[in-house]
Amino acid sequence: MKVVLFRQHGGPEVLEYTDFPAPEPKPGEALIRLHAAALNRVDVMVRNGWPGLKLEMPHINGADGAGEIIALGDGELPASAISAQEAGGLRLEIGDRVVINASLGCGKCEFCLNGKDNLCREWHLLGETVRGTYAEYVSLPIKQLYRLPPGFDYHQAAAAALVYQTAWHSLRKRGNLQQGETVLIVGAGGGVNTASLQIAKYIGAQVIVVGSNAKKLERAESMGADILIDRSKEEEWSKAVFIATNKRGVDVVVDNVGTTFMQSLRALRKGGRLLTVGSSAGPKFEIDNRYMFARHLSIIGSTMSTLDDFKEVMDLIVAGKLKPVIDRTYPLRDAALAQERLWNHENFGKITLDIH
Ligand SMILES: [Zn+2]
Repeated sequence: MKVVLFRQHGGPEVLEYTDFPAPEPKPGEALIRLHAAALNRVDVMVRNGWPGLKLEMPHINGADGAGEIIALGDGELPASAISAQEAGGLRLEIGDRVVINASLGCGKCEFCLNGKDNLCREWHLLGETVRGTYAEYVSLPIKQLYRLPPGFDYHQAAAAALVYQTAWHSLRKRGNLQQGETVLIVGAGGGVNTASLQIAKYIGAQVIVVGSNAKKLERAESMGADILIDRSKEEEWSKAVFIATNKRGVDVVVDNVGTTFMQSLRALRKGGRLLTVGSSAGPKFEIDNRYMFARHLSIIGSTMSTLDDFKEVMDLIVAGKLKPVIDRTYPLRDAALAQERLWNHENFGKITLDIH
């Protein structure tokens, strides 16, 4: 099969469009002929590598993908696969159109068995420590798949899977966002931020977006953002947020930048929640703990979601209640160009790869 792989960590130049043996489905797995993959910033982080990251080289990037089932693994299904299938009412067959959930729980530990598979003790992310979707074919346990209705666009599905489950779990389940609350989203263009904006509006929250330029803010406004703050003009945007909320502060901040945490904490009302699912500007920064205790603040981290949350949010996607924004689509062979665009924050919404 054609894939984009890398044999050593490095810049975009390490990505090779080449041939690689197609996987064989194991019992309980489905072999998927991918039509679309979507990029995430983690792809570039994995390509660059970090201390302690151990991969079986060559490695294939890619957490998101959608396509059709072309084969099912022979033999008896492992008990975990059967129970997951039955629980979800999922009886997949060859020819079914599916989207992938990249959050790979083991299916056996105490957390997986209690529906908290994102807390799995042997958790993996597809494309991070397991070969991913920058490929013509991928084989995955059936519990990782969601059946798409006829005609639903593969690129829309692939673009939705990781970011919408992440934003849904963070805002709805971890952050307990309620109708009528005010949410500040730090950053306008990224996939999780655009998903968070739509989900917050769907829940019935008022949304403030801090963005890096007027163009991205216009797009955010067209998606329903109520108040826009241009951080190229307002360096201390937490003050602008404070004024915009009548000196009350917001209930919730979505901050996946990291280095902006102090401004985000200042923008919160007393008892507010800072939600984070990423740290795009780097992993380490300082916060002033006095803000945390004196203002009763919470920082709530999460990553990905549970199998149930994934189904819940994908139901909203296929029903058209939430609609992924696609920035641009590249052919698979141009994955390096696609990653550059993403890494340089040139995108608004998701970048996808066309595979078949
Ligand atoms: Zn587990």
